[in-house]
Amino acid sequence: MLMCRDLAGIASDYIDGELGFGKSLSIKVHLMMCKDCRSFIGNLRMSARLMQGHASARVDGDVIDRIQDRVTAALEERKPPNNPGQ
Ligand SMILES: [Zn+2]
Repeated sequence: MLMCRDLAGIASDYIDGELGFGKSLSIKVHLMMCKDCRSFIGNLRMSARLMQGHASARVDGDVIDRIQDRVTAALEERKPPNNPGQ
């Protein structure tokens, strides 16, 4: 079972379509159940699009790292309610 934390780690690959069928499927299933990750993916997609839009103007790799750090930290702070072992 895919957890929010796992999803955060592979979300950008998912958006880029770089995950295999099985992995993308487990993300899709998770997104159906998890509103938080749906908005997380939505935000990430939007940032990715923004970055593509600015691709002609040089994008600092640091910016991308910083955005990813921020969303990952936000997700971890949120402590998903479907956390087993609770
Ligand atoms: Zn989730």
